[in-house]
Amino acid sequence: MAAKIRPLIAGNWKMNGLKSAGLREARNLARTMKKHGKPGCDVLVCPPATLLAPLRDAMKGSHIAIGGQDCHGNEGGAHTGDISASMLKDTGCAYVIVGHSERRADHGESSREVRAKAEAAHRAGLRAIICVGETAAERKRGQTLKVIGKQLADSLPKGSTAKNTVVAYEPVWAIGTGLTPTVEDVAEVHASIRSRLRRRFRDDGAAMQLLYGGSVKGSNAAELMAVANVNGALVGGASLTAADFWPIVETCI
Ligand code: PEP
Repeated sequence: MAAKIRPLIAGNWKMNGLKSAGLREARNLARTMKKHGKPGCDVLVCPPATLLAPLRDAMKGSHIAIGGQDCHGNEGGAHTGDISASMLKDTGCAYVIVGHSERRADHGESSREVRAKAEAAHRAGLRAIICVGETAAERKRGQTLKVIGKQLADSLPKGSTAKNTVVAYEPVWAIGTGLTPTVEDVAEVHASIRSRLRRRFRDDGAAMQLLYGGSVKGSNAAELMAVANVNGALVGGASLTAADFWPIVETCI
């Protein structure tokens, strides 16, 4: 029997959070976690880059990891406004999200670029959370599994392992909309991703954390987390306050 995969609940704050509110929520989260004891999952917060160091300090000793929301594929150099994976590592990050659909759409990032970013993350000793997901039009055309298969093939580096890589399935139409796929749809996509990962990465593919993301909240988290091959969640809006985020973490206790 395959070993149980430890879930990961990851919060993506996107471009939200100034110092006072961000620190308040991070401290609330750390306090809540301390009160309830270490949960049965890994917990991660990915704030904007400006809050990485303050949150690292505010949540010290809490077992809550911090991560970046993106990184450049190069180590350094003339890339104004970008941040490298080693800079994130140097600031105390353990993870970085790459290939989020908002980056793919707003910045025209291709899966090839996403793969270069994931490789940079691996070189720096970070775990890359690699996002894939179909648009509403692609789902309507019945192309969901094909689109995701191609994104996986092109975005995951050759050297991906269960230790350095997490895959997040995020249907683009479910992000920030309040819409979620049915549990049957999530099960179908996650089974397909798992089988592709297993085929390509063998035991590592079988053991990789596979997250669902897209309008996860306290009220639907337990149902989504119970789906086969769902090993946690990538959470946007509902990760911004400890009051909203904790009930999602709690589904793993
Ligand atoms: C996300 O941005 O990764 C996300 C899943 O957002 P939300 O939870 O707000 O849909």
